Amino acid sequence: MANDCIFCKIIDGEIPSETLYQDELVTAFRDIRPVASTHILVIPNAHSSSVTEMGDGDAETLGRIVTVANQLAKQEGVSKSGFRLIVNAGPDAGQVVFHTHFHLIGGRELGPMVAR
Ligand code: AMP
Ligand code: ZN
Repeated sequence: MANDCIFCKIIDGEIPSETLYQDELVTAFRDIRPVASTHILVIPNAHSSSVTEMGDGDAETLGRIVTVANQLAKQEGVSKSGFRLIVNAGPDAGQVVFHTHFHLIGGRELGPMVAR
């Protein structure tokens, strides 16, 4: 647990969230400012500030994030209609929360992947 990390506090239940899934490796909860009808954050329980800090030792956690995202996409009914699984890393990507997280976004046509 990193001091003053909002997502570590969500994992520990110190800050409320609409948690949809939790196991020993990952936690998934609804984004507080959703950009589509489905906007879920899937995060590793172990603190790392960005995906750039993750490596071979995190293979199981990273695999779990993908399988949990797939499971939640099915649950939300967006698996067939489509969704994006997005990681922002660093300033150019606009990362604002420095606990690694994957956005699962779907439920509408999402448009171009990146603004030109
Ligand atoms: P990023 O730009 O990738 O760092 O995105 C951080 C995301 O965290 C944003 O979509 C925020 O809306 C979301 N967020 C920030 N605080 C909370 C919170 N307390 N509960 C749920 N989502 C949050
Ligand atoms: Zn954290």
